[in-house]
Amino acid sequence: MQPHLRVAVVGAGWAGLAAGVELAAAGAAVTLFEAARQPGGRARSVAVREYVLDNGQHILIGAYRDTLRLMRLVGADPERLLRRLPLELAFPGARPRPFRLRLPRLPAPLHLAVGLLAASGVPLAEKLGAARFMRHLQTSDYRLPADCTVGELLDRHAQHGALRRHMWEPLCLAALNTAPRDASAQIFANVLRDSLGGGRADTDLLLPAADLDRLFPLPAVEFIRRHGGEIRLSTRVEQIDDDLSNDGLRIADETFDRIVLATAPQHAAALLAGHPATAALGAQLATYAYEPIGTVYLAYPPETSLPFPMLGLDAADGKGLGQWVFDRGALGGPRGVLGFVLSAHGAWDERDSAALAAELHVELEDALRRKLPPPLWQQTIRERRATFSCRPSLPRPAPRSPRDGLWIAGDYACADYPATIEGAVRSGIAAARGILSETP
Ligand SMILES: Cc1cc2nc3c(=O)[nH]c(=O)nc-3n(C[C@H](O)[C@H](O)[C@H](O)COP(=O)(O)OP(=O)(O)OC[C@H]3O[C@@H](n4cnc5c(N)ncnc54)[C@H](O)[C@@H]3O)c2cc1C
Repeated sequence: MQPHLRVAVVGAGWAGLAAGVELAAAGAAVTLFEAARQPGGRARSVAVREYVLDNGQHILIGAYRDTLRLMRLVGADPERLLRRLPLELAFPGARPRPFRLRLPRLPAPLHLAVGLLAASGVPLAEKLGAARFMRHLQTSDYRLPADCTVGELLDRHAQHGALRRHMWEPLCLAALNTAPRDASAQIFANVLRDSLGGGRADTDLLLPAADLDRLFPLPAVEFIRRHGGEIRLSTRVEQIDDDLSNDGLRIADETFDRIVLATAPQHAAALLAGHPATAALGAQLATYAYEPIGTVYLAYPPETSLPFPMLGLDAADGKGLGQWVFDRGALGGPRGVLGFVLSAHGAWDERDSAALAAELHVELEDALRRKLPPPLWQQTIRERRATFSCRPSLPRPAPRSPRDGLWIAGDYACADYPATIEGAVRSGIAAARGILSETP
């Protein structure tokens, strides 16, 4: 590589940080611009009262290979910072019978077969139907002839009943943050390929046992600095200009050989729209729709805990708001603090914070079949544009933009995946490698 390839990365979310780490490790001079006061973007820590919590509970899985590799590279030990648990989907409040599916520590695909067969609250015919469905996806190499919605895919393969309600649909909502009736079946199939269809460890849940900043953003910033890079927080990039005399790109009065645009799609759209080569791409991104995620923290007395760190909620009348609840105390956080996750558009979004907290409290009591003490405090965090809405055949940009020297990263640029940490990290790596591969 040329000795001082100057690369600016715009956005210090996980995509921008991944690009910065890869480039800095290869000897590039990296300058990272971040509009916010802290790195991490949509997966960051926030101060809630006297605690450091996350802007939203994040779930990683064993299949997040690139995320795990980069965590190790920057010195953040996944074994210490993530709690690895065999996949367990438990809905203790499900009616008529509690639902529980746990994948045993057996080699793949035995773990899935045994886990499915041993699932409780599911008739045998449904279990066999689910195994046939997975087998069908596997034999077609997880490629659908044409994209459709997850709901249509499940209907087509007669996936109804308890497994649909407690496995397929919650997995879709958790991974794609888009309701099954709207979500892309092809992207869902990709997720199944790399998780349930992968090796045994790929299905493991990796639940953060430290705040999100310490998982990657802060160690990544330190790594980039140690490799001679510079991080400029609270610095919003307003426009990217051509520097024709130096054959580069300019941010304010500085020239760079390459720029990685690693913002969320709505912010990228604005920066791309201003240049003729990327105006069409900017216009395309401007058509994206978005989905929210709500996180409600309810703090109970410290002795309050859940039977498993991640529990599914399913109200008896089918009208419940809650989806998943996490025991932060069991995950290295403050004891007694439970984090309720509410993915995608739904009735929860219309409730004010007090009503939402009160309903979730009752739903948890219902699921646990016992009374809980009233919460000591509550805090709701609503991320209105948590992720792009992962619809069928959504166009995604390639890492190399049509403008010379400008590269794209961000969860939306990982065409194979929904908006996830792993998608963001992979997109950053792809942009960095693209730059490095064309640099002598
Ligand atoms: C509440 C919540 C829960 C989630 N749960 C999960 C989960 O369980 N598992 C999972 O894998 N994923 C989850 N996700 C998705 C995951 O967090 C995102 O896909 C990922 O963080 C996106 O990273 P990114 O780098 O692509 O974008 P971002 O995180 O949006 O980073 C872009 C950065 O660019 C900065 N920026 C924007 N404009 C400019 C500008 N003009 N100049 C400089 N900087 C700029 C922004 O401030 C931001 O820091 C969740 C997301 C949310 C919000």
